[in-house]
Amino acid sequence: MQYISTRGSAPALGFEDTMLSGLARDGGLYVPETIPQLSPDDIRAMHGQSYEDIAFRVMRPFIGDAFTDEVFADLIAKAYAGFGHDARAPLVQLGNGHFLLELFHGPTLAFKDFAMQLIGQMFEEALTRRGDRVTIVGATSGDTGSAAIEAFRGLDAVDVFILFPHGRVSDVQRRQMTTPVEDNVHAIAIDGDFDDCQARLKDMFNHFEFRDAVRLAGVNSINWGRVLAQVVYYFSSAVSLGAPDRKISFTVPTGNFGDIFAGYIAKRMGLPIDRLVVATNHNDILHRCLSTGGYVTDSVTPTISPSMDIQVSSNFERALFDAYDRDGAAVAQLMDELKAGGFHVSQGAMQVLRDHYDSGRVSEDQTLAMITQAQDHMGELLCPHSAIGVAVAEAQRDPATPMVTLATAHPAKFPDAVQKATGLRPPLPERMADLFDRTERVTRLANDLDTLETHIKDRITS
Ligand SMILES: *Cc1c(COP(=O)(O)O)cnc(C)c1O
Repeated sequence: MQYISTRGSAPALGFEDTMLSGLARDGGLYVPETIPQLSPDDIRAMHGQSYEDIAFRVMRPFIGDAFTDEVFADLIAKAYAGFGHDARAPLVQLGNGHFLLELFHGPTLAFKDFAMQLIGQMFEEALTRRGDRVTIVGATSGDTGSAAIEAFRGLDAVDVFILFPHGRVSDVQRRQMTTPVEDNVHAIAIDGDFDDCQARLKDMFNHFEFRDAVRLAGVNSINWGRVLAQVVYYFSSAVSLGAPDRKISFTVPTGNFGDIFAGYIAKRMGLPIDRLVVATNHNDILHRCLSTGGYVTDSVTPTISPSMDIQVSSNFERALFDAYDRDGAAVAQLMDELKAGGFHVSQGAMQVLRDHYDSGRVSEDQTLAMITQAQDHMGELLCPHSAIGVAVAEAQRDPATPMVTLATAHPAKFPDAVQKATGLRPPLPERMADLFDRTERVTRLANDLDTLETHIKDRITS
């Protein structure tokens, strides 16, 4: 299995190098050259299997010879052993034909743990075998950072630096990043917003001298390994609702487009997915683009769903690559236009995007109202991101097709919004009840590439 860049000019790589490098050297994102297929019988065989068994079947065709079957099964087992629910991704019913996929039972209470815990295992295995080490730098709107730190803390072969927007993450999110005591963990608060963090990270990847000197690796959702691990729960949930003998739709609270793109991959592999619905908050560049064809950046407005406060949605590039019939030069051209503020998707490409994706947008007031309604009428305490998904799904779903909305974070991660809507303050699970007593360790830095690179070089533990 080879991976190619969405911008068409970086060398193709195998799974392990794709995972360890993150971003392609032409600035593009890696995607599999061909999509492995699972037949209806293959999918039917997943009925009644454990999450780990389904994970193995779904991901195995993508990893080539990176790991033996035995090692890969073992990495999967270790990745999910620390989850607080035996089903890993349990499905609960909200109403007639509407289901909630709870993806927040991992160690940092957001769906990011599904990919990050596995990536941590795969990095350690591959780097130990190679006798190598890397510097992981990640940008976060809140949840990726804590999930990455949790996955890589204390590993010998890795330093992990996380850039988060100063003052724009929740207290729980910040403390999950600033309180780990391991020397290889470095939290950096940037004076800027999430898009600034992500832009500086991309600058580091495109600064080859720095990239090679520190052996830079990325675990943002631009890393193919992240997307791959998320494909699994589309299968596990659809199978438990009757796939492949019944079509299922999904609504996904979306920011960087990684999670919903994993759903698209599941569909391309043969899972009968009817609709993939992108749910956005006030920062609605994706909804605007899917409605009008114009992908035009605006400034980011902070909301009560901070993990979706994004205007440049990195993984959308992967969707564009397929929509433009895998023409890397065309995608590179769009990304150049984006630097100047935006681009227009061609009519043909819009057709392809509309074949796969629908979208909806939810205001702050509607989000709070949905949290209240879910508590009163569905028996579920939702985090604001999940509430945005449920609201869009309720507005758009077709009663003939089961709808699964992805619950992307635990309500206790965003207690202020939940309390405002319901009067209830969701407690943190027992294992992190002392989070607010732990000492914080963080460096605040300017939104400046030189400053960041110097800081990182000085602090690598090696
Ligand atoms: C990351 C995140 C999202 C957005 O996911 P993408 O893959 O970036 O689209 C939504 N909700 C929560 C809670 C998140 O942490």
